[in-house]
Order: sequence, then C-alpha cells, then structure tokens
Amino acid sequence: MSINIASNYKKLKAQIPKGINLLAVSKGNSSTSIRQLIELGQFHFGESKLQEALPKIGQLREFSNLTWHFIGRIQSNKVRGILKSFDVIHSVDSLLLAEKISRISLEEKKTPRIMFQVKLRDDPQKGGFLRNEILDMWPKLCELPNLQTIGLMTMSPIDLKVNERILLFRECRLLADQLKLRECSMGMSQDWMEAIQEGATWLRLGSSLFRNRIDK
Ligand SMILES: *Cc1c(COP(=O)(O)O)cnc(C)c1O
Repeated sequence: MSINIASNYKKLKAQIPKGINLLAVSKGNSSTSIRQLIELGQFHFGESKLQEALPKIGQLREFSNLTWHFIGRIQSNKVRGILKSFDVIHSVDSLLLAEKISRISLEEKKTPRIMFQVKLRDDPQKGGFLRNEILDMWPKLCELPNLQTIGLMTMSPIDLKVNERILLFRECRLLADQLKLRECSMGMSQDWMEAIQEGATWLRLGSSLFRNRIDK
C-alpha cells in the first residue's frame, strides 16, 4: 500500500485548532514527498541534520515562501551552515551554543528566530537547559545580539505515561509564560493532542504525516 501523505495531512489539519502551527518534520523524507505537502499549502518544514537538509532545500528553492526550521542537535561546526539555510532554530540547548549562534549571526548579518530547548525531566538521551539553568542564565541570554528569541522547545522522554506528559507540557508552557515567550514547540506524533491541550503553539509532526497510519 502506498503512503498517502495528502490524506494524512488533511486528517491532521482537520484536528489541529486554528492558531496552532504544524511543523512538518521532513527528516528522512525526499523533496518529492515534501512537494506533496507544499501543494496542499504547508510551508513550514523541520529538519534535524544539516547534510541531509541542504540538498532538499536546494531542490525546493523555486518555492520562495518556505520556512525551514532546524530541530536537531547542533554541532558547533555546523552553526554557520545552519544559519545560512534555516530561519528558525528550535534546538538551542546551551549558553555556549547560544553565544556562538549570536556571534556568527552578527558576522553573517542574520537575525534567526530561536527557541531554547529545555529539559524538564531527566533524560540522558537529550540536551537542553534545566529549569533553573535557563532562569539563572536568562539575563545573559536576553542580551545576545541578533537573536530573536521566540519560545521554548521541549521533548518528552519516551517512557512517560500520558498524564506525566501532560504535566511536562504544562510546566513548559508555564516556564515560557514566566519568561514572556509566546511560542512553545512541543508535541510530536505520539503526544500532540496532549501538547495542544497544554498550550503548544508549534507541533512537530513527522511519522504521522509521512508514514502509513493505522487509524483509530
Ligand atoms: C523526528 C523529530 C520529530 C518528529 O517526530 P515524530 O514522532 O516522527 O512525529 C519532532 N521533533 C524532533 C526534535 C525530531 O527529531
């Protein structure tokens, strides 16, 4: 059975309230698949590896209205490349990295929109600011030139139960509100409904768009 990306997309869009943004996470998928979504009016795409993203961004250059979001772990030597091709970065996970992005943005005359990745539960697999770290570093982070800080991003450890995810998302929303940040990038294919309920503004959906779904 072939994958019906268009029908996945339409079903998801119908369930996502207006005002909540859908980031189509296209990592692992070709520019041909991405085109199918562009034809349906999707303009925001997320990628997590620079080397994988660059050819696709090139192949889709004819579409001037696309916004590319970087959502993956950022290696220090990739910052310049990321800034040249991406408009939004969701995964700024340390002060050192934020400083580097700021410095190179200044050199490249870029003003990227960024989100700080926060780690609200212990998770050795993931990076991110702990709650107290981001609060302590906040004055410093705010002073970094050329960064447009728009929000926080978080990911739920895979083993959390539904009610624990809800609490995690709620804490992320509260922290963003405390820092006076509008955007919360949270919720993936497994937990986007809970994320909406708790105040997500950007859902990052990959497999629910690009894989066959067994409908409930
Ligand atoms: C892959 C990825 C997603 C999408 O995950 P799905 O479960 O496929 O929806 C979202 N966010 C990040 C950071 C990712 O790496």
